Amino acid sequence: MTSKVISILPKNDESCGWIKQLPPRQVQPALSGKQHADWVVIGAGFTGLAAARQLAILHPQSRIVVLEAQRAAEGSSARNSGFLVDSTLNEGHYSAAGLELYRRKYEIKRAGVLAVQRLVTDLGINCDLEAKGKFHCTAVKSHEIKLINFSKLLNELELNHKIIEGEELLQRLGSSYYRMGLWTEGGVTLQPAKLVRGMVEKLPQQVELYENSPVINWRKLSNSEDFQLSTPEGQVSCQKLIVAVNGFMTSCGVKPNHSFSLTLTASMTRPLTAEEDEAIGRPEPWGVLSAQSMGATVRLTKDRRILMRNTAEVWPKQNMSVADLELRKAKHLNGIKRRFPQLGDDIIESTWSGTICLSGNNANVFSELDNGMYAAGCYNASGIGLGVLFGTEIANLASGKMTDEIRMIQTNSEPMLLPPQPLLRWGVGLRLMRDRFLAQHEQ
Ligand SMILES: Cc1cc2nc3c(=O)[nH]c(=O)nc-3n(C[C@H](O)[C@H](O)[C@H](O)COP(=O)(O)OP(=O)(O)OC[C@H]3O[C@@H](n4cnc5c(N)ncnc54)[C@H](O)[C@@H]3O)c2cc1C
Repeated sequence: MTSKVISILPKNDESCGWIKQLPPRQVQPALSGKQHADWVVIGAGFTGLAAARQLAILHPQSRIVVLEAQRAAEGSSARNSGFLVDSTLNEGHYSAAGLELYRRKYEIKRAGVLAVQRLVTDLGINCDLEAKGKFHCTAVKSHEIKLINFSKLLNELELNHKIIEGEELLQRLGSSYYRMGLWTEGGVTLQPAKLVRGMVEKLPQQVELYENSPVINWRKLSNSEDFQLSTPEGQVSCQKLIVAVNGFMTSCGVKPNHSFSLTLTASMTRPLTAEEDEAIGRPEPWGVLSAQSMGATVRLTKDRRILMRNTAEVWPKQNMSVADLELRKAKHLNGIKRRFPQLGDDIIESTWSGTICLSGNNANVFSELDNGMYAAGCYNASGIGLGVLFGTEIANLASGKMTDEIRMIQTNSEPMLLPPQPLLRWGVGLRLMRDRFLAQHEQ
């Protein structure tokens, strides 16, 4: 019999600029009393909501329960930078095997992009989705080679892209900060809180969502094949369990020593005034990813706000306090002013944090952990498309339904074994310090 007490839990907070743009919604009651369900899904982000939806399609007569620790759709799924990407920056490969590996990862990510686009169309979710590509940019001459090598790789894969410099880059972005940009056609940007809110609102009626219901303990019953999950006010047993908690995976006892969490912080400005917009040349909305790990992710949104994310750190996995966020906000403001020196110091409206999950070899979790218990996550900061894809496909896998997407996902390697704590924490901390130093002119 397995038993796990969960002590690290996400909490509601009101800081996220994306969520603040949404109207209030009716929060569903917490789980109470003793209950039984056919299926339980833990976590109401992209992965858990996509899984619950697919389960409802496959098992219209079954009782499907979703348990969410905080308000649904207000975790990292609502707090990210909104880049839905197919290709990720890579400096090229020196062997056919390396190229093939990248191609496979690209194909999985591409399937994730398509899964989100299908969902948005099928459910009629308005999430400001714009399929106009993404930029990878650098402000440092010695980093230009990374973009040139990435361009060669994209050529080998026949993926449409373009290197942009000088006046053209200035006009596209409204900032002269960057020396070189590589635009790829396949990138999509969206408002993440609108997407995940839409997934909650469009959940099939059959799915029972319990909010503010953190699973604090789970175990496999000794006298049956069932799992029993406890929340502060209730208990539910089930035959099959899907764990969709991404950054909280290890605290839930899923794949310990194979993944780790980082806390990212981001800030968003108020909408630019007409004068400010004029001053930067009224560019079309854009999204920029850095050519350097730990460099800044920046967006100019459809409603003329600037989003800045240039911090990532090892953090005890609770939310950040207002004082903690204020410290990160200063770094975000610095990043905004480097790119747009003409903007004022009081332009930031919101600063928030969120948790991501990474593995040591850029692999994801997608598997049956125990008889009847499944998990999907560890998206290495690319969880919009992968969350929707893996959520849907883990429900298929758990239902015994094999698909082409599952076959594709299963060609991926498993997350590698990591050193035990505190060695892991120290190692990750040192690596971040090094990356931060190398990215000091990209933040
Ligand atoms: C600042 C930031 C920027 C990012 N930018 C991007 C980006 O541009 N593009 C991209 O693709 N990805 C990005 N990511 C990553 C992306 O947000 C995640 O990969 C994605 O949200 C994963 O979705 P998920 O549903 O698996 O997990 P989550 O969205 O984290 O959802 C998991 C849910 O499980 C709940 N939970 C946890 N423990 C328990 C428990 N014990 N009981 C019940 N519920 C529990 C949590 O409250 C949460 O709601 C970013 C993340 C952050 C924080």
